Amino acid sequence: MSIDARRQLALDAIDVHADKLREVSQFIHDHPEIALEEMQSSAAAAAVLENIGFEVERGIAGLPTAFRATTGTDEGPHIAFLAEYDALPGVGHGCGHNLICLSALVAGVGARAALDGLPARITVFGTPAEEAVGGEVKMKNAGIFQGVDAAMGAHPGDAEAICPTVPGSGEALACQAVSIAFKGQAAHASADPYNGINALDAVVLTFNGINALRQHVKSDARMHGIILKGGEAPNVIPDYSEGLFYVRAGTRTYMYELVEKVRKIAEGASLMTGATLSFSFPEDATWDMITNYTLARALKANLESIGLALPEAKAEEGSGSTDWGNVSYVVPSVETGYPIVASRCTWHSQDVVDASESELGYGNTFLVGKAMALTAIDLIEQPEMLQAVKGEFATSVSARLAAQ
Ligand SMILES: [Zn+2]
Repeated sequence: MSIDARRQLALDAIDVHADKLREVSQFIHDHPEIALEEMQSSAAAAAVLENIGFEVERGIAGLPTAFRATTGTDEGPHIAFLAEYDALPGVGHGCGHNLICLSALVAGVGARAALDGLPARITVFGTPAEEAVGGEVKMKNAGIFQGVDAAMGAHPGDAEAICPTVPGSGEALACQAVSIAFKGQAAHASADPYNGINALDAVVLTFNGINALRQHVKSDARMHGIILKGGEAPNVIPDYSEGLFYVRAGTRTYMYELVEKVRKIAEGASLMTGATLSFSFPEDATWDMITNYTLARALKANLESIGLALPEAKAEEGSGSTDWGNVSYVVPSVETGYPIVASRCTWHSQDVVDASESELGYGNTFLVGKAMALTAIDLIEQPEMLQAVKGEFATSVSARLAAQ
């Protein structure tokens, strides 16, 4: 069968199933569920794939709302699509994850239809808890992505959304959450303060130390925090105080280096005050994103072939962080942006909630899902393309690990 015939099989299958796939996305939009509570959302997404013929395994990697829906053979390339579906507390689908899920469902259904006897595997991974916790980090740590040759996904954006095709685009910052708590000694703040050990002072000194460190970090570093506990009353020396910080950087290597500097600062604050430090990581770190540009260019060509033209990508420092970063160290990855609003727009807002069920939102999500399916066919049919993707992956991972 010609590659054009396979492409047509994919596009036709997507059109046949379009209504029920869109219904799943609308259902997720109408029932927003936050991180790790996506029971109905993950069930709806897994069920539609199962009904179409995927083998579905629910509750993988110890996450009740994660799933793997797979089809195909054990020989040949293994191409994956990542589906997120968690909502934001109090906002609903203000990040458009119901559409992220839809793009992966569309891609999976299209790619499955195109296989038609080709030795290859197509998997849609249901990846919960992107907005908090980091489901993909736990799935990666559980080895869920082993054997996957390439992973694609799409994140909705505004009119300036791009497909990251050039080096320096598609970046995200590595991020470690750090809990810094001090145990001191309570005393009357006026009657016998000399008997107290001020745990709040230790947190304040930690902030000051981090602020002094700021002069000596690279431009991609971000260190920001809040005080969670700072005492109960002004006339009592606080015997317990706790801060929560995020330490971010353009590479995980540099991020871990900064985390150790922050640890030294907290140890210094402990020495200065006499308060006992407890320094811990409440969540696994997310790593910087290693975008695979060979894969991104293949995807962009397919986006254009079906009529979704995006602005040219340009190199830009990462600003946010994503749990996909960790996956991108083990699987060649691209997450393309695409527009669901026609102008610029503040994210995590009601505007995005509305756009995530708009005709533009649904229309472009179907186009992006189709382009991901077509790219999977390219990778399966053209071994040299997959080799190029893997070659770039090997080089870029070692470069990142060496970089500071
Ligand atoms: Zn998001």
